[in-house]
Amino acid sequence: MASTRTPARTPQQTSQRRGEGQWALGYREPLNPNERSKKDDNPLNVRSRIENIYAHTGFDGIDPGDLRGRFRWFGLYTQRKPGIDGGRTATLEPEELDDEYFMMRVRIDGGAVTTAQLAAIGEVSEIYARDTADITDRQNIQYHWIRIEDVPAIWEKLEGVGLTTMEACGDSPRVILGSPLAGIAEDEVLDASSAVEEIKSRFIGEKEFANLPRKFKTAISGLPDVAHEIHDVAFVGVNHPEHGPGLDLWVGGGLSTNPMIGVRLGAWVPLDEVPEVWAGVISIFRDYGYRRLRHRARLKFLVKDWGPEKFREVLETEYLHRKLVDGPAPAVPDQPHDHIGVHRQKDGRYYVGAAPIAGRVSGSTLVGVAKAAERVGSSRVRFTPLQKIVVLDVPEGEVPVLQQELANLGLRSEPSVWRRGVMACTGIEFCKLAIVETKARAVDLVDQLETRLADITAGITTPISVHINGCPNSCARIQTADIGLKGQIVTDADGKQVEGFQVHLGGGLGLDAGFGRKLRGHKVTGAELPGYVERVVRNFVAQRLDGERFAQ
Ligand code: SF4
Repeated sequence: MASTRTPARTPQQTSQRRGEGQWALGYREPLNPNERSKKDDNPLNVRSRIENIYAHTGFDGIDPGDLRGRFRWFGLYTQRKPGIDGGRTATLEPEELDDEYFMMRVRIDGGAVTTAQLAAIGEVSEIYARDTADITDRQNIQYHWIRIEDVPAIWEKLEGVGLTTMEACGDSPRVILGSPLAGIAEDEVLDASSAVEEIKSRFIGEKEFANLPRKFKTAISGLPDVAHEIHDVAFVGVNHPEHGPGLDLWVGGGLSTNPMIGVRLGAWVPLDEVPEVWAGVISIFRDYGYRRLRHRARLKFLVKDWGPEKFREVLETEYLHRKLVDGPAPAVPDQPHDHIGVHRQKDGRYYVGAAPIAGRVSGSTLVGVAKAAERVGSSRVRFTPLQKIVVLDVPEGEVPVLQQELANLGLRSEPSVWRRGVMACTGIEFCKLAIVETKARAVDLVDQLETRLADITAGITTPISVHINGCPNSCARIQTADIGLKGQIVTDADGKQVEGFQVHLGGGLGLDAGFGRKLRGHKVTGAELPGYVERVVRNFVAQRLDGERFAQ
């Protein structure tokens, strides 16, 4: 078990980095309002106030410190007031943007649900969320239009089937990404589900990790299918030549401003030691992470300053009290895993992966998927980091039946390359930070590309990803897309200020790990977008070499 004490430091060491607010260097006084809020009251305490006070007083009775701070530890953000255009986002005070309804995020570690859980998620949406449900690129489900009065009843229904919204947001250990194919993939190094489950049951909702400098993102997978390069900590399956299957440890990845690819520590971790090593890494973040400036608080900044050798040394000496085993790098896939289509499992049954557009589904759709899966004898469904949905354990003879039922629900298991490759964040419909519309634009873009590029689509054999963000944050991972689109206000041909995008080209993960090139001054309006993407793709197809991927 990793030590969770805060190591003592000499006065000299303390004064060196005091300015960053690192607890381990003796600095415990908050240096900004967020740190103050967390120190004044552990954010996990807000649950009882929601149940006992705010659910009865309604929206107007909520303490602002809870509303815009501690609520996040239970997956709750106020959503954007309808009708405020993106040009005003930066000019208004937070309370002017707040609607009295909430976005609620349900954490689904490893993206794994039973059909009973999926039906419960859908029913909550139908009853309390106006039938909204988005699959996020972190395998969560997001609702909208939630009233504070209904939150206790929602928790009761979700928790009744073993689901939670705890630490779905906030400066906490967020949902753990895991392979949608854990335990069934023929090519996985190992099934990492037990590590995901153990971390969740031992550490999520515990006070020791409820006050971190910023959010902390984890990915654990026996396959390289969880974007491990851009997580605060990641464990990726690898075969050690002497010790056999285990996981390779990465730290310090992250997007948003100052995007950074994570670094390998060169350590091989056996599956049963993953929770202990995870606890060591998150303890370093809690103790040594920078707490002065929010935009420099993610673990990646500490890793950049320390480098992988020092990080590993501190982990081993101060937290694990033992050496880690050196290990090789994981294999790199030549194509990203998106789990779409019909594929054989290692037990001889099949999984069927299907694509909504940019993760947008509904509560009734999810109830429909649960029923369809059960009709063909499956009780397990997975969400993917690419906003897709996968039904596991389908007998071979039932595959066409399920495919048809999913298609009737708007979920295609043989989608076009465009439906398959487009992702989008929440955008201006509900997000208070957004500058532009994203989800509806994604639907329109897929529609248009399917028509405009019908003559060449069949010849495109490698995926082309198009990721759409509503603002400079990177919830839809634009820097890692073939075509990344960052929402902003641009000037159109008539000199009008309209919604548009800054373009990044050529990003990728896996074999092509690296961030897309921001094309300075290269901006498109929303109206020009389908035509722009069409031109880029036609140029690529005309000039590519045999087998060349977009990011090469
Ligand atoms: Fe909101 Fe921006 Fe994130 Fe999109 S990228 S969900 S607009 S914060």
